[in-house]
Amino acid sequence: MSGYRTGYAVVEETAKRNAEAQQAGNIFHAIEALRDIYWKNDGDKHIVRFLSDEIVTFPIHEAWKTVDGKYRNIACTAGFPDGDKLNRPCVICANYKNPFDSTKPATPRLVSLAIVLEQEKEGKKYIDSTRELELLSVAGDLNSPKSKGEQPIFGLVKQGNKFWNDVNGYYSEFDTTVDRPYSIIRRGVKKDTTYTIAALNEDTEFDTPQKLWDKYDIPEVEGFKDPIVGHIVKYLQKIGSQAWIDRWLGTGDGDPTTEFDHEDESDEDTVKPAVGSSLQDRLNAFKAKGNN
Ligand SMILES: [Zn+2]
Repeated sequence: MSGYRTGYAVVEETAKRNAEAQQAGNIFHAIEALRDIYWKNDGDKHIVRFLSDEIVTFPIHEAWKTVDGKYRNIACTAGFPDGDKLNRPCVICANYKNPFDSTKPATPRLVSLAIVLEQEKEGKKYIDSTRELELLSVAGDLNSPKSKGEQPIFGLVKQGNKFWNDVNGYYSEFDTTVDRPYSIIRRGVKKDTTYTIAALNEDTEFDTPQKLWDKYDIPEVEGFKDPIVGHIVKYLQKIGSQAWIDRWLGTGDGDPTTEFDHEDESDEDTVKPAVGSSLQDRLNAFKAKGNN
């Protein structure tokens, strides 16, 4: 189970408030400032610590060039579940061309998302990477005092099946992915890309999702037993909200498909939109195929 449908009841208004608050830098916890974690070039490496054994599958228009020339993720709004307030026809699919082939419509990439901590090696240990963030002292109170300080970096990993099947190999070995960091290196380019994923030292002190959530004081998300899944869904609600789309697509400002120089991985996993997935489900599917 992914929890995506379970308790999924946040209205557009909330998503709009979240988008505005995060845009203005009004956040209470570092997990609300997710940094995209990606491996752009052959040999790129990240050390990550998974915070949950659940992943959420969703179609996203990744690294879409927005009105200020920067690249942002925009949810394919047709991917929200039927009956959800955010489920609606996608303006990008309907109105925009594929940035790499203007004879084709834009299509989202179906990715599975996880939130991780970014880590680094210090001596023989792995420690959290940090950055300076300014946080509100009271959740949701934009007038509460803010304080600046070093915070762990919460990253968003968005990858296709090949990547997650490799992670599943470790899941089947350890029964969890959260009990140790992983070193992940990209090999190759475009369609030949693979990832070398290495399990690092076991952390016997923090070896369950709950222990990590307590350690990092992860805020609960109403309706979700797994707060990491909740924060992924909140992120999807933000990048699929009308406020986000209006702000970053703008209106009538020329052809947004020009000068798109981001690498094309968009059709690697372009299949029917789906929600609700987990490592366990994937592992079972993997086993059913006789691949283990
Ligand atoms: Zn779309």
